[in-house]
Amino acid sequence: MTRFTSFSLRENANAGASTGDTSILPDISDLSRRIRFSPHEGQIWLDDQRVVILNLEALIAMRRELFEALGPGKARASLFRMGYAAGTREAIIALKVRAGKPQLDAFLVGPQLHSLRGEVFVEPVSIDADVESGQYYSELIWRNSAEAESHVACFGGSSDPVCWMQIGYASGYTSAVMERPIEFREVECVACGDPTCRIVGKPAEEWPDTANMVMTPHVVLPPVGDRIQDRMPVGVIGTSPGFLGAWYLLKRVAPMTTTVLLQGETGVGKEVFARALHDESPRAAKPLYSVNCAAIPESLIDAELFGVERGAYTGANHSRPGWFEAADGSTLFLDEIGTLALNAQAKLLRVIQDGQFARVGGTTMRKVDVRLICATNVDLEDEVRRGNFRLDLLHRLNVFPLTIPSLRERRDDIPPLIQYFLARFNQRTGRRVAGFTQSAADALLLHDFPGNVRELENMIERAAILTLDDEPIDALHLFHGKNYLKKTFLTPLTSGALIEQEFREQPEPAQTSLTSGLHLWEIEAIAVREAMAACHGNVSKAARKLGLTRSQMRYRLRDK
Ligand SMILES: [Zn+2]
Repeated sequence: MTRFTSFSLRENANAGASTGDTSILPDISDLSRRIRFSPHEGQIWLDDQRVVILNLEALIAMRRELFEALGPGKARASLFRMGYAAGTREAIIALKVRAGKPQLDAFLVGPQLHSLRGEVFVEPVSIDADVESGQYYSELIWRNSAEAESHVACFGGSSDPVCWMQIGYASGYTSAVMERPIEFREVECVACGDPTCRIVGKPAEEWPDTANMVMTPHVVLPPVGDRIQDRMPVGVIGTSPGFLGAWYLLKRVAPMTTTVLLQGETGVGKEVFARALHDESPRAAKPLYSVNCAAIPESLIDAELFGVERGAYTGANHSRPGWFEAADGSTLFLDEIGTLALNAQAKLLRVIQDGQFARVGGTTMRKVDVRLICATNVDLEDEVRRGNFRLDLLHRLNVFPLTIPSLRERRDDIPPLIQYFLARFNQRTGRRVAGFTQSAADALLLHDFPGNVRELENMIERAAILTLDDEPIDALHLFHGKNYLKKTFLTPLTSGALIEQEFREQPEPAQTSLTSGLHLWEIEAIAVREAMAACHGNVSKAARKLGLTRSQMRYRLRDK
């Protein structure tokens, strides 16, 4: 199921009644299992979305501040939009978790997540939806509203319903599901003295007035996905605060001719940033010239960058321009600038200072207009201390340093990145690898990625190759032949107890013996994994290798 079509809870025998129908709520453990605590990372995940625990006192304090700072109207609207944002995002979970289940069950993910989040217990009274025609009506009873409780704690009672954030959640969630603006309103509220809160949802335009409800965000239907993301160039993926901070700096400096120094660990995507910086600049129509200083021998780097005159040295039979001349009027990206030899550094300094240089073996000064982007994964100040880098050049390069965070510092971006890399893999290869298992997603969220985005990209590609069409990538594929992860998630059971999910180191085949202390199923899983790898994902071959039938093999592949 990739989207909803129609679902319904009939008939409205209970409409107006004081209880809803809780018997239709599916077992919630498929959702509760998706809350994972990662205390060693200081993170909690609901599926692939990062969440935090707020206690009610914090919400009460925030509510009071909002009302005092903004006044009631804007405070309500802010609360509504907060809930709306959360509801919209969590609609994605519904389609994923209960794909293949009846659509009503999938829809009930929203109300059940609302309960699981500890905000309110939802009892459906009636639900009737048809996405095609846009028809929607539902009535739900809310018990134990956290928001009503916090409002009463702030202000005592209220003459109007007060559960705006929760109403926003219901509206955002349902709008995303229905792919059109659905507005919920609270017709009874505990804060007004009613025994329960009660909400009704309809298409926004079917409400008779909008005077007292001007809260629905102007962009009524934030698409499932991220709007900031939509404005980024292809390949630039990220919505985490650290990443957006770097992206903001890039957007600010792009229109200028300022030299930019991109810093960050290896694999963080400095070349992607350099490309984006060029593409966002007024020079975008011209090509971006890119030179990896580490890839050119020290004896040739001068000639490569600045060109050479005929006869400058043995073998220089022709005069030819270097990269600076080629990039005149455009942008030149010098990667791994820290490896540049000292005499080339001196020439580079001169170009930056007054835009002039001479070819190797020449005396004519040439003037160019080049926007320079440099990148380094070493600490240039350290290199200066070691005498390998000129301090005056560092000062010139360091006008606008821009540090790209490591993937560890932007784990929120892992889910969109893995989706992107997998979609690109499928598109390029014509394969149909179907997403990720829960254990794969968990493992990725915990991995430290010393090689950053590049490591993640390679990992997804390798795993996708090992995975069969229409099957999801599993943790075993991701960490094939590698030691990984000794960290744990804590996952709540429905009972409330926490179980520990451990991603243990994958033993190398050599250790796969009786003395390794492995369970039989673990040895089997390793054998299956090794056989699949050895046969490049060919199930029949791998099955023969292990003395299994093809269907026995498929069963073992599925059963992870
Ligand atoms: Zn209420």
